[in-house]
Amino acid sequence: MTEAKSYWRLVVFRCVSCRRNEAFAEESCVVEPREDQIRTETYQAFCRHCGWQGEAHGISAVEMRSGVERRTAIRNK
Ligand SMILES: [Zn+2]
Repeated sequence: MTEAKSYWRLVVFRCVSCRRNEAFAEESCVVEPREDQIRTETYQAFCRHCGWQGEAHGISAVEMRSGVERRTAIRNK
């Protein structure tokens, strides 16, 4: 049985506008995300608190999470 797996990563930044740690960048990737990779990349972050949107660098991430996503996505709300 072949199972199509993909990975996701969620990176949290401090919002440059409201200064809260509410700026999120989420994306999926085909290989398992590694922390040192996440650190070197640039993301389009979106603040859930004030709506700010912009570029954020992985090096300034305050938190990062990653995981496996199966084809039957649990992301649907
Ligand atoms: Zn904000």
